[in-house]
Amino acid sequence: MLTVSEAIAAVIARVTRMPVVQVPLEDALGLVLAEDIVSDLDSPPFDKALMDGYAIRSVDLIAGCGRLRVVDEVLAGQVPHQPVGPGEATRIMTGAPIPEGVDAVVPVEQTRMAGLELPHPVVLIESTAVTAGRNILRRGKSTAKGTRVLRAGRQLRAQEIGALAELGKSQVAVYGRPRVAVLSTGDELVPVNEIPGPGQIRNSNESMLAAQLRQMGAVPVLLGVARDDPAEMREKIARGLTCDVLLLSGGVSAGKLDLVPSVLAEAGVSQVFHKVQVKPGQPVWFGVLEPSSAVTPSDSGFHPFAKGDPVRSPCCVFGLPGNPVSSMVCCELFTRTAIRRLMAIEPAATAPLRAKLTKDHFSGGNRPTYHPAKFAQTESGLFVEPVRWVGSADLCGTVEANAMVLFPEGERTYHAGTMLDLFPW
Ligand code: AMP
Ligand code: MG
Repeated sequence: MLTVSEAIAAVIARVTRMPVVQVPLEDALGLVLAEDIVSDLDSPPFDKALMDGYAIRSVDLIAGCGRLRVVDEVLAGQVPHQPVGPGEATRIMTGAPIPEGVDAVVPVEQTRMAGLELPHPVVLIESTAVTAGRNILRRGKSTAKGTRVLRAGRQLRAQEIGALAELGKSQVAVYGRPRVAVLSTGDELVPVNEIPGPGQIRNSNESMLAAQLRQMGAVPVLLGVARDDPAEMREKIARGLTCDVLLLSGGVSAGKLDLVPSVLAEAGVSQVFHKVQVKPGQPVWFGVLEPSSAVTPSDSGFHPFAKGDPVRSPCCVFGLPGNPVSSMVCCELFTRTAIRRLMAIEPAATAPLRAKLTKDHFSGGNRPTYHPAKFAQTESGLFVEPVRWVGSADLCGTVEANAMVLFPEGERTYHAGTMLDLFPW
């Protein structure tokens, strides 16, 4: 049985990047750039005022003081109507281009109107020593034309989106957002809006996994429930295999009706691993459908790519154990890695933080245990406390948690103060 890190390495080895696509800038948040971005203009594009005030010639002031004729006014979006000569000033607003002859802007708060006699009012400058360049941002000073502003590989946050907008990139080349089919399996499942009958439960995994996928930047495609019936599973799995990823829940353990691995094998999906040394989530299954190994109708009477859909990139398939916390934890550990890899986010596997345990905790796992926990950042570092949790079916326990904390394999008490790996949710 693989360890968690071996399983994560196996996912990384089998999953490749999504094709590059052009997307509108407003859809690009969280995606990874697939092109270098070079500035096609100087920023700012002209020498501009950084304050509302008076554009002046510093030689006209003595120790920051002077009396100047106001010859012009420039608002943002306008251009100066005339240069500023000796003994003159122009009223200027933040963001407006500075007039010729000017080498500083004095904030309006350090000035006073002395006379409003036409044609030229007079302004009294009462500043402290004004040096050349004060409150002026020179053309190209923040970014000169031709500068590489962003490199391919950068994941786009709000500030990159803003920079791209400034550079006029209304479309950007990025690695695509994976479409992830979510298929819950189980005879006992009823939709969320129904009252479960005897022996039935609501399909909570679909909503939870869809939410996790959206947080990762993927697009969930909800396929509902497949009964524990080979024919129904085949048909729905076939539909799921047309997506970039197929996420199944349930049906991968050792139960009589745990049919998922056999139906996937029948569809031509090659198993990469089944079972990982992890708690919760031991039965997790992972495989890949290579386009060339898609089973054709003549082989089995069953073709995963219905209606002659062109076979594109491989589909990676996760069979997550049905218990909700197992599903959630395996999705965090393994599916997240695949999604990050598809989206070209580096590193694909997220590294844990380290946190100090705040109280003694007994861990009885025969496998490394990812226990729901609450962590907090304080002045003296990160602290973590496991929440009350009765195991992989206890989804409500996880709502008190904001992370999972890793207790290594083996029975022992971890004393307060022990440093442990922490994976924030
Ligand atoms: P399985 O992995 O199919 O053996 O299911 C393990 C446990 O998870 C069983 O108690 C199932 O009823 C439960 N389960 C399976 N699928 C879901 C689901 N979609 N939502 C909530 N619980 C589920
Ligand atoms: Mg089941």
